[in-house]
Amino acid sequence: MAGRAPSRRAAVLREMGLGPLWRLRTQGTQRVDEEAGERSAEAPPGGVLEGVEAAHGVPRPLMAVAPQPPSAAVSSPALTAHGFPEQHPTGRRSAEAAAGDIAPHADSARSARIATLGWDELEEDIRQCRACVLCERRRQAVPGVGDRQARWMLVGEGPGAEEDQRGEPFVGQAGRLLDNMLAAIGLRRGEDVYIGNAVKCRPPHNRTPERAELAACRPYLERQIALIQPRLLVALGRPAAQALLDREIAISAARGKLFEHAGVPVVVTYHPAYLLRNPRDKAKAWEDLCFARRFMARTAANG
Ligand code: URA
Repeated sequence: MAGRAPSRRAAVLREMGLGPLWRLRTQGTQRVDEEAGERSAEAPPGGVLEGVEAAHGVPRPLMAVAPQPPSAAVSSPALTAHGFPEQHPTGRRSAEAAAGDIAPHADSARSARIATLGWDELEEDIRQCRACVLCERRRQAVPGVGDRQARWMLVGEGPGAEEDQRGEPFVGQAGRLLDNMLAAIGLRRGEDVYIGNAVKCRPPHNRTPERAELAACRPYLERQIALIQPRLLVALGRPAAQALLDREIAISAARGKLFEHAGVPVVVTYHPAYLLRNPRDKAKAWEDLCFARRFMARTAANG
């Protein structure tokens, strides 16, 4: 087995056009069970921590591991056919641009009211929302889409032009890449996956949402998470990570680690629009998804 793994892996990497790009950040920290696609029980570097440390800088992760290159063990049939295809960049402004720490939204009565809403009322509230300036230029708000009992919840930044027009998240070019990323780990939009955004209305010219906009929309995201109760949150890009982790964060520093939001584990990775502009980083996003999938496999195995 051990002798065959490198050539299988090379074949997968070749298919993805990623072969020459792999750079392990640390070595020898993980082993993958080739059949089950799960990490071995050995402790990750840095160990398992008690919780998120809120004191300084980047929140301390619950667990840190060095992302691993894709192996046969974690690849899916969809991967070789559709994994992370080369596509052309969109004009979307950087999802990795800083949005700053997220201030608590002043209107706690509004937050408390939203925290009581059921799905239909919640979506209607989002559609009628006028809590920030983004409502002024939206065609429509985009609440989210997918399985309301999903174990996976993906959080993007905010709707773009196509999403604003169609009312569904990630239906443009970045969305097509996202669908391929999901397929590469055996997932499909709407099946055990819910996709939402940190802000529900399109920022003008696809700019990065501002702190106040993220804060105003936060009760909606909180309510969606509370209703879905996902097993894992995947933050796509920096604003989404900031919305979930409540502080400024650099994706490059946070990826490969396990954080927490309201008791739900969080992993972060690059935004698909960023990957369209920086295709070399698709390799890293793939590492992150493999990490997420291993985490899910392990928690499923543990009941
Ligand atoms: N980018 C996002 O962050 N969300 C979308 O819904 C579309 C593009």
